[in-house]
Amino acid sequence: MNRPRYFTIHELADPSIIKEVGEEATWGQLDPQLFPALDWLREVFGPLRINGGGYKESGLRRKDTKTGSPRSAHKAGQAYDLKPLNKGVDVKAMYNYILTNEAEAMRHGITELENIIDTPTWLHISCRPHTLGNRIRIVRP
Ligand SMILES: [Zn+2]
Repeated sequence: MNRPRYFTIHELADPSIIKEVGEEATWGQLDPQLFPALDWLREVFGPLRINGGGYKESGLRRKDTKTGSPRSAHKAGQAYDLKPLNKGVDVKAMYNYILTNEAEAMRHGITELENIIDTPTWLHISCRPHTLGNRIRIVRP
């Protein structure tokens, strides 16, 4: 079973989805391509909040949510919004680290980031496919 080491399904999906379909079926809605990136960033930067602590739409979102874009990668289980918990780690540093280590980041499944200028308190990572070749695509939310 391909599962991230450091994250539970409750951190990765909207609780109402888990309640509706159960944990196993919710795992099935997540694209496993991005799991290595979650563990990689967790090991480099320490604990990362996704859902929990008041957040519930930072991972897999309901198709009918009004949060974010209608075609958000979150609805396909292909995106997470990361909030570092360790003091001294900010999202800009994580963003720059990913771009500095672009090939490694892509090996861990990242294909897309949202421009950190638009999301100063979280980092959106995604494995949504694109056709820009061997580069991470930077998008505006
Ligand atoms: Zn996001």
